[in-house]
Formats: sequence, structure tokens, C-alpha cells
Amino acid sequence: MPIMFKDWVPANTHPLNVVEVPEDSVASVEQVTRPPLYEVYMRMAEELAKRSTCARLRVGTVLTDAYLEHVVSIGYNGNARGFPNHCDSDEVGMCGCIHSEMNALVKSPGDLRDKVAFITASPCKMCAKLIVQANVSHVFYRDPYRNQDGLQVLEQAGLVAVHYTRWKDEWR
Ligand SMILES: [Zn+2]
Ligand SMILES: [Zn+2]
Repeated sequence: MPIMFKDWVPANTHPLNVVEVPEDSVASVEQVTRPPLYEVYMRMAEELAKRSTCARLRVGTVLTDAYLEHVVSIGYNGNARGFPNHCDSDEVGMCGCIHSEMNALVKSPGDLRDKVAFITASPCKMCAKLIVQANVSHVFYRDPYRNQDGLQVLEQAGLVAVHYTRWKDEWR
């Protein structure tokens, strides 16, 4: 039976997005008339990124359960609680901010399987390893980070990473 993708994004192989459709009804597959949940959570991550106090790059993260029913935790990059609301240093690579993904992961239960991550930028190498370790199955990201090592880590670990931009400008 042909496979269709509810949000019309073939790269999105998350189980809730894939449907088998009988050959004779392929033409009648639903149009996308409202924001897919994947897009809604990505927009939440974009809103969170606006709260970042990092001078280098502002990133937001939303973690959900496997069914996209519950937000498990949220994060954006910045200094630790009680510390000054700015980077420790202007030096490249030394800003000292806790990454958005790390902030979300420390607040999420590690034993909850198949979590889904929505991040405004693709993760760095260390965040990617933490994402793997925290039992995340799918990572949706809006913009590829200049260094793609993190995406390689996700691929190596068998996670699905989706560059999610298809509905970026719709319903605004
Ligand atoms: Zn910073
Ligand atoms: Zn990182």
C-alpha cells in the first residue's frame, strides 16, 4: 500500500505522520489546511529562542512525548539560574551559555522513551550526544547550524533528523 505523509513532508517519518493509503484513494488524501503539530511545536521553540540572552546565537527547544500530546520540557540558551543574564565572555566558543537543548534535557525524564525534540537550530556535537542518551527518537530543526557534526552524531545513532521548513511561512 502506498505511504503518505500527513504533513506532506516526506522526510518526516515520525510514526504519527506516516499513513498507509489504499491505492484507489491516494487522490483523496487530506490537504494540509491547518498547521501540523510539528510546525506548531517548532513555532513554540522559535518563541522561546526570543528569551535567550546569548549574544552569539539565540536558540529555543521544545521536547514532547512520543505522541506529541505533552510538552515534556522547554529550553533556551543562556547563563545558569542566578548568574548574570549575559554571556561569560565575548570570545568565540567561550560564551559559557548553557545550550538550549541541554536546558530542556536536564528538566526532562531520561527514561521516557521516544521523545521528540523541536529546535530552532541543528544541535552541536555534544548536545546531539545528550539527545541520543536521553532517548529522543526524532529531532526537528529549523536552521542548519554552521557545523554539521551534531547531525552526523544523530545519524550515526539511528535518530531521525528533519530539516523542517515546509510550513515556515504559512498561517502567519
Ligand atoms: Zn552566550
Ligand atoms: Zn549544543
